[in-house]
Amino acid sequence: MADQIHTINLEEEFKNCPLCSYNGGFHSMLKRDGEEIKWLFVCPSCNEVFDVGQTLKQ
Ligand SMILES: [Zn+2]
Repeated sequence: MADQIHTINLEEEFKNCPLCSYNGGFHSMLKRDGEEIKWLFVCPSCNEVFDVGQTLKQ
C-alpha cells in the first residue's frame, strides 16, 4: 500500500477514484493520529489512500 495519503475536498460524493477512474466505491481503513483516528478510503483498483477529512473520536 502506498504511504502517501491524498487529501480530497469532499463535494457531493466520493465514489470515483480521481487517480485511476475506478468508479465502484472505496474500501475503508482507520489510522491512529495521536488522539484522533482518521477514517481513510482505499481505492480497490490502484490501492491509493484518500483522506476526505473524516475522523473518529474515542
Ligand atoms: Zn484508484
